[in-house]
Amino acid sequence: MPDSSMMDNRNGMVSKIQSRIRTDSFKSNYDLVGKELGRGKFAVVKKCVEKATGNEHAAKFLRKRRKGEDCRRDIINEIAILESAKANPFVVSLHEVYETTSEIILVLEYAAGGEIFNQCVADNDEAFTEKDVIRLVRQILSGVAYLHRNNVVHLDMKPQNLLLTSSRPLGDIRIVDFGLSRRMDNVKEVREILGTPEYVAPEILNYEPISTATDMWSIGVLAYVMLTGESPFLGEDKQETFLNISQVNVDYSQDVFEGVSNLAVDFIKTLLIKNPRKRATAEECLQHPWLSGPPQPHAGLLPSLEEAESEPESPDSAQELVIMASYTLCSSQSDLKAVRGAFPFDEPFGARSEIQPQIYC
Ligand code: ADP
Ligand code: MG
Repeated sequence: MPDSSMMDNRNGMVSKIQSRIRTDSFKSNYDLVGKELGRGKFAVVKKCVEKATGNEHAAKFLRKRRKGEDCRRDIINEIAILESAKANPFVVSLHEVYETTSEIILVLEYAAGGEIFNQCVADNDEAFTEKDVIRLVRQILSGVAYLHRNNVVHLDMKPQNLLLTSSRPLGDIRIVDFGLSRRMDNVKEVREILGTPEYVAPEILNYEPISTATDMWSIGVLAYVMLTGESPFLGEDKQETFLNISQVNVDYSQDVFEGVSNLAVDFIKTLLIKNPRKRATAEECLQHPWLSGPPQPHAGLLPSLEEAESEPESPDSAQELVIMASYTLCSSQSDLKAVRGAFPFDEPFGARSEIQPQIYC
């Protein structure tokens, strides 16, 4: 675990890594194959094959300069967090790191099944069954509980960042994209939150302290989407979505949850709670009767899913949410109470009242 000397000033970023950063040519060691696997605002992910071994990997090419600013330390933080989670099987593993003048390349384990997003929005016969969802949510929670135990908050839990080792037969979860993740050993500040509006917790919209509970909200949204194919807070426009989130306006009707067990609905209700202190933790979720029994890493016996004719696209980056604000980061859900008691909004993070929070969509 990185000690405090490895942390950047109170913003939860880790500045020391163990991986050797290679400066020799990535292309002389890897062949790029196939089309792009995905892309975000500052990264492109491509499939590649290591020439020496023939092994498949996913190479994430991250630009060091973003909007005219040097963002190398954000990438180092992403690497450090991947390193700290390498013992957990449900977090994508990091194989190697390369650096060029303009980019850092993370050579990651290849998750051949793609984003769970595709199956969340698939038609009935290709969509997840509740049994699938139980197994996948357990794996997600096992990965997230590990992160939270190690004081890491992901802050971007959504179906585009949850991949599968295979889609047919349905494989195992790999959590990816630690670009927004932070360590929370002490109270910290986070100044920029990017996310997809639908998955953002009410405390983010209200500029209130962020904690592990912020991830738990997103897991509640995720479980809802995986079980019903519907996004619980999605409105006609972003304003309506934000209003639905801050009012916790959720439809738990039989119409939406047709064929889904009451236990599943009860599970979601323990997470979509406005007060982060009252939300279930990852460990508590794992004890919920809906998820009883040990996690099952293999799905070979589950019914295979038909090949989707055309895979739906992820929401484009125009849908992304960027919030520039000053957040307090708490080391755990239980610390939230103490921190909120100790530091009213203008103390000691005076910047909070000086920085006008802005939401860009
Ligand atoms: P960003 O920070 O730009 O969102 P991500 O790490 O989320 O970058 O990667 C973007 C997309 O690339 C993911 O949503 C996924 O579709 C694909 N991807 C990322 N990592 C892998 C991987 N290890 N294996 C397969 N596909 C991946
Ligand atoms: Mg992503």
